[in-house]
Amino acid sequence: MSAKLLEGAPIAEAVKAKVKEDLAALAKQGVQPKLVAVMLGANPGAVAYAKMQRRACEEVGIGFELMEMPEDTTQDGLEKAICKLNDDGSVSSVILQMPVPPQIDARAVQNIIAQRKDVDGVNPANMGLIVFGRPRLAPCTALSVMSLAKASGMDVYGKEVVVVGHSEIVGKPVALLLVDAYATRDECGKTDKMAGATVTTCHIGTSQRGDLASHTKRADMLVVAVGRAGLVNGDMIKAGAVVIDVGINRVEGKIVGDVDFETAKEVASQITPVPGGVGVVTTAMLLRNTVEAAQWQLEGA
Ligand code: NDP
Repeated sequence: MSAKLLEGAPIAEAVKAKVKEDLAALAKQGVQPKLVAVMLGANPGAVAYAKMQRRACEEVGIGFELMEMPEDTTQDGLEKAICKLNDDGSVSSVILQMPVPPQIDARAVQNIIAQRKDVDGVNPANMGLIVFGRPRLAPCTALSVMSLAKASGMDVYGKEVVVVGHSEIVGKPVALLLVDAYATRDECGKTDKMAGATVTTCHIGTSQRGDLASHTKRADMLVVAVGRAGLVNGDMIKAGAVVIDVGINRVEGKIVGDVDFETAKEVASQITPVPGGVGVVTTAMLLRNTVEAAQWQLEGA
């Protein structure tokens, strides 16, 4: 068996087309969304991500500004800058580029990004909306996974979905979005009734007990978001499963996921490539969320 590739590009294109439509509607109301990315120092990962953000914004016509702050910026200095952006009517979205230098408490900063400008979905209030089944600005990677899950065509209602990894920006929101029958959004940001899965979340403890395969093998849909190349191989996957690989790892100069693609594709029915799967859609979701933020700001309290 050779799995069908679940590619990100067609989804990303659909998202961008809808973003352009929504931007035109916003322009008629005199709104030109602008995303400001705040970066401390010049971490190579953060610099590369900022370049990608700029390119993506320019492609659809969203304003983009990279606010570069010194590496030794204090917590207080950063928080003051964020508050200024919160109050600036010309700024519709704010994102803090990760990683931040060690003197910065990123969680505290995420806490003060205005809820309706929080394009990365990391403010606790936005996380709370996911828990309540009413997501607005959810983390872009989690939205990307949900879009790919939908594109697979698998009706996961009541089925076994296993999520490996429980970070705040991927594993936890994905598990919550998948478990809630009414919480998901389609690629254009509309509420959708797709999920309602039976969700198991695995993490380092699962692996350390040697139990990871016993869970992953039960999964009709498997989402892996850890950051460890080859963590899951074909022997750990149920025949016919849909596999969504979030991981990005550099191995011998090549980018690979967390799933051993060669063995997994022989067992799975569909699998996301790395690169070319989740990452492509994540970038499009940043644009989607920037539009969503601008629309939300037009709504009353
Ligand atoms: P984090 O490091 O924040 O989280 C990793 C998670 O994996 C943790 O919950 C951790 O559990 C768990 N974990 C670690 N080791 C194991 C193991 N051996 N077995 C099972 N679980 C384990 O990473 P992120 O969630 O931010 O990112 C995960 C991966 O996804 C990375 O490769 C990252 O580069 C990639 N990524 C890709 C994106 C995309 O758009 N394609 C966007 C964002 C991230 P514990 O905390 O218990 O140790």
